[in-house]
Amino acid sequence: MKNTKNVPYYLFGAGAVAKLPEVLQSRRDGNKRGLTVYLIDHFFNGRSEANRLPAQSGDPVLFVDTTDEPKTNYVDGLLTQIQTVCPELPEVIVGMGGGSALDIAKAVSNLLANGGRAADYQGWDLVKKSGIYKIGIPTLSGTGSESSRTCVMSNAEKNIKLGMNSDHSVFDQLILDPDLPATVPRDQYFYTGMDTYFHCMESLRGRHRNAIVDALSEKAMGLCREIFLTGDMQSPENRAKLMVASYLGGCAAGNTGIVHPLSAGLSVVLGLHHGMANCIAMNGLQQFYPREFDEYMQMKEKQHIDIPEGMCAGLTPAQFSRLYRASIVHEKPLANALGDRFREVLTEDTMRSLYLKM
Ligand code: ZN
Repeated sequence: MKNTKNVPYYLFGAGAVAKLPEVLQSRRDGNKRGLTVYLIDHFFNGRSEANRLPAQSGDPVLFVDTTDEPKTNYVDGLLTQIQTVCPELPEVIVGMGGGSALDIAKAVSNLLANGGRAADYQGWDLVKKSGIYKIGIPTLSGTGSESSRTCVMSNAEKNIKLGMNSDHSVFDQLILDPDLPATVPRDQYFYTGMDTYFHCMESLRGRHRNAIVDALSEKAMGLCREIFLTGDMQSPENRAKLMVASYLGGCAAGNTGIVHPLSAGLSVVLGLHHGMANCIAMNGLQQFYPREFDEYMQMKEKQHIDIPEGMCAGLTPAQFSRLYRASIVHEKPLANALGDRFREVLTEDTMRSLYLKM
């Protein structure tokens, strides 16, 4: 039995981002005002959404580069930058963007309060103190970062991709505004949205179950069916539904299966982004998830989304070996899906044949 923490406060609804000044004000009543640090996805640099942020004199507004998924040394660099312009600890961190920007905001909040470097806290329950009060504003739905207790970073020195899994990584406040993902390119909207579907189906098909996580996952998958199997996935109604599904999926996150480890291999070896890598991985996993495979095929056809194929066709034996190692290292999810003897099912040869189907 595990004690579970969820986000304590959220505001949900079209236009909710306009409430940010009120939320910030409510933090300040009776106090000397500390600085608010804004960590905003670089996608918004020069756009009206960023210009409307209620930054006051002295508040640093930093655009974070999310071209690549977050790296520990990048987070360390941002931390130094913030410490240079904020001689005292800031009062609030506002993270706005997709999963990468939100994960960076969580990591920076933890590091400002706890000291040290990002790599020191990659793992389970290593963060000792509450971070700086943090507000998350997702602009892309699906990763569940807004409601999960982790912030994933890759660490080139150690050759790992691992999060700060901690109750202190949970946001203190969310602003969930379904108008924000209106301008996301369709492909990206689909790849990222399907991350929720995969998290939840891997959890429901796994061995380690929990009735509350099951209920959240079933609801999130049902919403994904409504969004991706009927009409336009990006209509105002479906944007609101996907924001809810992503939030529920993030609350349920933790027990993945085979899609995520194989997807991680694709990210490590081929540098593919998480959402797209999941979709490519699912292309090779019909034998493990036949019903969900068919459903996923219907969803991408209904939404006219192309998933790249044949990505692994020309890889060298050394690259296949790296793919195997970068996938099989994810023991917890593989054992969740296949049992403790997962290595006998997913041999290096089997893994290569799966990658060749993608
Ligand atoms: Zn995921």
